[in-house]
Amino acid sequence: MSPPSHKLQAGYWSRSVLCALGFAAAMLVPAAGALSQETFSQLTLAPSVSAARIVVSGDTTRLAFDISARVDARAFVLADPARVIIDLPEIAFAIDPPPTSAGKGARNRSDGLILSYRFGRLAAGKSRIVIDLSGPARILRAATETGPDGAARLLIDLAATDMVSFAAAAAASRSLSGALVANPNSLPLAASAGAQPSDRPLIVIDPGHGGVDVGAQLPGRPPEKDVVFEFARALARKLEAGGRFSVILTRNEDVFVSLGERVRIARTAGALLFVSIHADTLTEASVSGATVYTVSDRASDVHAARLAEKENLADKAAGFETPEEASEISDILFDLTRRETRAYSHVFARTLVSIWKDAAGLNKNPQRSAGFKVLQAPDVPSVLLELGYLSSQKDAALLTTPEWREKTAGAVARSIDSFFAMRGLGRGAPEEAAQGYSPASTPGGG
Ligand SMILES: [Zn+2]
Repeated sequence: MSPPSHKLQAGYWSRSVLCALGFAAAMLVPAAGALSQETFSQLTLAPSVSAARIVVSGDTTRLAFDISARVDARAFVLADPARVIIDLPEIAFAIDPPPTSAGKGARNRSDGLILSYRFGRLAAGKSRIVIDLSGPARILRAATETGPDGAARLLIDLAATDMVSFAAAAAASRSLSGALVANPNSLPLAASAGAQPSDRPLIVIDPGHGGVDVGAQLPGRPPEKDVVFEFARALARKLEAGGRFSVILTRNEDVFVSLGERVRIARTAGALLFVSIHADTLTEASVSGATVYTVSDRASDVHAARLAEKENLADKAAGFETPEEASEISDILFDLTRRETRAYSHVFARTLVSIWKDAAGLNKNPQRSAGFKVLQAPDVPSVLLELGYLSSQKDAALLTTPEWREKTAGAVARSIDSFFAMRGLGRGAPEEAAQGYSPASTPGGG
């Protein structure tokens, strides 16, 4: 057996690295259009990838990328789920993203050890490839090589291994997955805060996924990360145009942002409302319409529980270990704050559902709840809006049209107006705003 050529450095599991979650960093919306990935890459002249293929030969599964220049690659494995992570300098992936593992059952046997893979920007100057493995594997090679034709290729060669060896390699490389810091070069919050009129309530809009975490993806349809980003920007424009709110996006480009970072951005900025935007997929192509989710300790129904489970995997999809949740110091004040916040979240969810239904389709059970990590801020009312189902032909067609986006973003903006009008644009007692609502109840499931 030849020694692996990848630079796998033995490292100790470092909680401090994973927990050293960087400062909340966010960007003001009105910057006239975020740099697209193409523009960014043109500016920095990043090497570009023009093709990708999987080749299975004997015991080796190879993932090969045609690339315009040689780059340094650092590869390592992670367990639970079994993944191979390849960290690279910034690369322009000028290829369609491969389908995500939504159709695992139908996967092609010729894909060998590769169940699915994804790639994208991790942060400024960094890209990442994440491979989901169909079984324990070891990395034989992760490097660029120049072929006989003079063209460079990034080659990732994998071979099957046993569970014990895989677990040992994964444990040794856990600290390599990096801290869950989103975008070290993004504008520090303090710098942008000065530009905001402080008397306006601050809304944080959270376009789900981004960068290497593409979200839901079906062949021939745009990935969730792009659909929700366009919607978030349309909503931000509407709110800015109304002049009553300050708005921050948790990302204003195609980059990975961890779930914890999104929550922290809202809390550090002092947001009065957090709206996370997503688009779901289901195997049942007939299910359509929008759904508004709030956080709850117990899910309102099986579908909500499954969706929260799926959305909570976003950090792992980007090749990170999710830090164990710190047990919160629970005292009476904390409990009261969280109870009040959840009451407000429900009021906003209900308001949004009632206004959305005049603009566009709703799921037949449009208000649900489950344990979404991104909605965990104890002091910021938070909802997660699933715009619709990318698995529904009807929804997928609608969600990508500017007309639909304008109409529905307008409905969300009106809901925000109405919610803050109820609250007198400040923080009042939830009982006044939420007349007839009991915080102890959760919306019915089914
Ligand atoms: Zn999502």
